Amino acid sequence: MPTLQTIRDFNPQGKRILLRVDFNVPQDEQGAITDDSRMTKALPTIQYLLEKGAKLIIMSHLGRPDGKVNENMRLTPIAKHLEVLLGKPVKKLDEAIGPSVHAEVEKLQDGEIIMLENTRFYPGEEANDPEFIKQLAELGEVFVSDGFGVSHRAHASSTGLASVLPAYAGFLIEKEMNALQPLMGEPKQPFTVILGGAKIKDKIGMIDQFIGKAQNILIGGGLANTFIAAQGNEVGQSLCEKDKLDLANELMKKAILPHQIIIATDVVIAREISETAATETVPANAVPTDAKILDVGPATVEAFTNIIKNSATILWNGPLGLTEFTPFQNGTRDVAKAVAESGAFSVLGGGDTAEVLKTLGFKDEDFSHVSTGGGASLEFLSGKKLPGIEVLYR
Ligand code: ADP
Ligand code: MG
Repeated sequence: MPTLQTIRDFNPQGKRILLRVDFNVPQDEQGAITDDSRMTKALPTIQYLLEKGAKLIIMSHLGRPDGKVNENMRLTPIAKHLEVLLGKPVKKLDEAIGPSVHAEVEKLQDGEIIMLENTRFYPGEEANDPEFIKQLAELGEVFVSDGFGVSHRAHASSTGLASVLPAYAGFLIEKEMNALQPLMGEPKQPFTVILGGAKIKDKIGMIDQFIGKAQNILIGGGLANTFIAAQGNEVGQSLCEKDKLDLANELMKKAILPHQIIIATDVVIAREISETAATETVPANAVPTDAKILDVGPATVEAFTNIIKNSATILWNGPLGLTEFTPFQNGTRDVAKAVAESGAFSVLGGGDTAEVLKTLGFKDEDFSHVSTGGGASLEFLSGKKLPGIEVLYR
């Protein structure tokens, strides 16, 4: 069986390594990095390769410059921050390919670092263009990918390079795979999947995937509203995908165990979305026409908690309420607490989910694994193949 090839599987000593990371970090208006966790999570790979005497050429994208140079999306502040994190100089170049880049790469010594410019300044990046791949590949001898967050994209620097250079996974991709892969195999039962968030479209794949695998599928958040409406209930002014009611009914019919899919039974409602909104808890089948469902209620939290306590494996994606506002954070916080205390093998996926739990004061260590890849983890957990990961198996 093909196995994931990792950076332990070759000798990096003296090699010019093209390392793809996902340093697409959030920045404020002045360009200051507001959350560097994507960078800190790639440090073990960077440090390992440097200690082994590699010559590192780091590649990343930032934002969506759409194949053109965008002064606001240069990697200069990212390289500066990496210098601080590593305590080592990082030579930032203003291009990713071409003669001046070659000249700098020639000078690179063992244990030194160059960072190329934003790969998405080049149209060949997202087009996975063979010519752009070739120009990048000329710079190095080995391709290492640790950009799990871009592994669902068949782009030149995340996937294409593997067609021309020996390719290996960094420690972050290895860690992600070690956590996510078992969920797609035979996870330890009882296995509980918690789903929330906004749109059913993003979650259908996972519901389909886990109906055959999970003992419990717990549904809250905006997602639950569509199911509540599909059961013939009023949802008032709530976020609800009216054109997806049939789909929600179909998904519920697919359940292979009694009570396998559990939808929020009580909900927190308000008439306005604000920090000072007056909230009320009502049964899910008694929502007034002028109200919005904005969180799961305490009876739902209790029911979810009882299931969580008895679970051996838990996968959670999607906040259970409109967590951008304090009055609607309780359901997510209480359920997160239950997951953290459950002792189960717990995996969190989804960009907003990870961010919200951090805001609510939870730490990565409270869970077995917090995935760094929003879109990538959702696609993988929906049963799709990730092109940037596939190329690392041999
Ligand atoms: P993730 O990025 O973790 O996959 P999603 O993007 O699917 O999560 O969902 C996150 C969004 O869902 C948040 O912006 C949150 O406010 C919203 N949300 C959750 N519950 C509700 C609700 N009841 N009404 C409106 N929005 C909701
Ligand atoms: Mg999201």
